[in-house]
Amino acid sequence: MNCALCQCESPLQNSHIVPEFFYKQLYDDIHRFHVVSSDSSKSDFLKQKGVREKLLCENCEQKISRWEKYAKEAFGNGLGIQIVRTGNIFRLSNLNYQTFRLFLLSLLWRMGVSKLEFFEDTRLGEKHQEILRKALLNGDPLEPLQYPCLISAVQLNGEFHRAWISQSMHNKSGNYHCHCIVINGILFCFFVASHAMPAVFGEVCINKKNEMSVYFGEVKEIPFLAEFASNLGNAIRSRRTKQV
Ligand SMILES: [Zn+2]
Repeated sequence: MNCALCQCESPLQNSHIVPEFFYKQLYDDIHRFHVVSSDSSKSDFLKQKGVREKLLCENCEQKISRWEKYAKEAFGNGLGIQIVRTGNIFRLSNLNYQTFRLFLLSLLWRMGVSKLEFFEDTRLGEKHQEILRKALLNGDPLEPLQYPCLISAVQLNGEFHRAWISQSMHNKSGNYHCHCIVINGILFCFFVASHAMPAVFGEVCINKKNEMSVYFGEVKEIPFLAEFASNLGNAIRSRRTKQV
């Protein structure tokens, strides 16, 4: 098996697809994940094994972990990032465009390349998969309007759930594809299209002025996510019924 990123033949690591730092917080005392599927027929195998897959060689694994380290520190420790709040919108500035973008693109790419059932709804297609692979390999963060990622902190009935991790989701919005995942209550929404994205994405998603906005709000205000949450509720109920 070759490394999915550099394509060299090399022993593969048991790579994590969802950034490890995000789900470290999700371990409870018996080392299970609070991972939920909106489809009750799917097994909860991820609860035991984590979201891992033989994917990358050691070099590529380390490369991605450097970008993740930055994202972790940026989210966790602030790293000199300035935040201004206006209502439900948090405006972040002083982020490192290159590193943060590479982290985001690596997340999208890993979701797309993964063969795990958990990510089965994220299919980017050969062309986008290859553009992303080359960008990551060359450390190229691409332009802000290429695969922009909208980040929101989502609440369920007024509460923020740090332990909430979802399967990846897909929907089509206008003439672009939207690939999303909730990790630790943070919704990452990637927009994928061959044509140029509306310039407004450059205001909201991270741009070269090192700024980005994060929306903080209710799940029900994000229509497709509300649908997901409702399916999730049904899945949990039906799982409970099965266990009885
Ligand atoms: Zn590699």
